[in-house]
Amino acid sequence: MMDNLPVSGTRLWDSLMEMARIGATPKGGCNRQTLTDLDGEGRHKLRRWCEALGLAMTVDRVGNMVFRRAGTDPDRKPVAIGSHLDTQPTGGKFDGVLGVLAGLEVLRAMDEAGVRTRAPIELVNWTNEEGARFSPPMMGSGVAVGVFTEEEILAKTDPAGAVFGEELARIGWQGEADPSWARGLGAYLELHIEQGPLLEAEGATIGVVTGASAQAWFEVTVEGAEAHGGNFMAMRRDALVAAALMIAAVEGIALEHGGNGSVGRLALAPDSRNVVPGRVWFTVDLRHPAEAGLDRMVAALRARIGAIAGARRVAASITPFWSFPETPFDARLVGLVRAAAEARGYAYRAMPTGIGHDAVYLARAVPTAMIFVPCHGGLSHNEAESITPEWAEAGCRVLADAVLAAAERA
Ligand SMILES: [Zn+2]
Repeated sequence: MMDNLPVSGTRLWDSLMEMARIGATPKGGCNRQTLTDLDGEGRHKLRRWCEALGLAMTVDRVGNMVFRRAGTDPDRKPVAIGSHLDTQPTGGKFDGVLGVLAGLEVLRAMDEAGVRTRAPIELVNWTNEEGARFSPPMMGSGVAVGVFTEEEILAKTDPAGAVFGEELARIGWQGEADPSWARGLGAYLELHIEQGPLLEAEGATIGVVTGASAQAWFEVTVEGAEAHGGNFMAMRRDALVAAALMIAAVEGIALEHGGNGSVGRLALAPDSRNVVPGRVWFTVDLRHPAEAGLDRMVAALRARIGAIAGARRVAASITPFWSFPETPFDARLVGLVRAAAEARGYAYRAMPTGIGHDAVYLARAVPTAMIFVPCHGGLSHNEAESITPEWAEAGCRVLADAVLAAAERA
């Protein structure tokens, strides 16, 4: 299925480096946060590149940008390629940007080769994937598939009190299209850096992403008894020691079940040097590629915390905070990505993503797949984020083959 489009790794790399100059930081990263003047500047650059290819631009009411390349069959739904140009405040040059500019390179190569496709092809830059300035993340894609309403997103404020809708209008990128356009896509493909160390460690060039892990987040409160630090050890009901055992159990559960388990926040009371803590609150984040696996982890969490609480004579309550369903990607599209990696002889591995992406929301509404390429040391959301030109090119070639197979050469 290799289609041998004249994809140029050099041209892709040059475009990545040119985009990276907008919001460049002294440590070699990027600060191009959503709806800032620099975000506007990055959007204009993408627009100029796409206009040079004769692509028609549509912008929707939450600022998602869509560039359309016509197909030959008016009955075919578009095949979209997308990701995001916005970055973290101390972000890198590749998170999100690679997916957008690799999509641009696919369209440039198709143009150069005079390739026509039956389905139209659309290139998308989603607004505010990062969620750094305006929370939550993945707003543009979330509105597009109905996870959030347009109204709630336009009313969001940043820490300085700036309103999302006003900032979008101020930088000149509030369009008129209805954001629900995305629900009419025939397919969605996204190339992204892995943001983890697995591919590089295994010497694989391509990650064939099979879907997004299910997640369940909890808050745990442990109630023991405050006591003087000079009290007898045997009489204590130390909430923190109980919590420490519970936290170790979270790690154990993740390792036993092949999932992820993290405790990221913890507070204790009274938080005094010579007082045995009477109360501890902490968060738990559990993830597993399969819903059934996550269910087993949650059951184990409840059982282990209950057992530890009993043995330590403390009370523990577990409150669900947030959850995210297992989101499998489209089997046919995932198959196209795998076939492309295989045909090109790239070392690849199938893997779930435990990290949120625009593609994870898109998968709720349209057939979706993702391609990962390695990043050095798994480093991302970091100015030192780095990839090789070869990885970028490999990801772009797999993307090109999969897109062309999905859109079908006319
Ligand atoms: Zn990203």
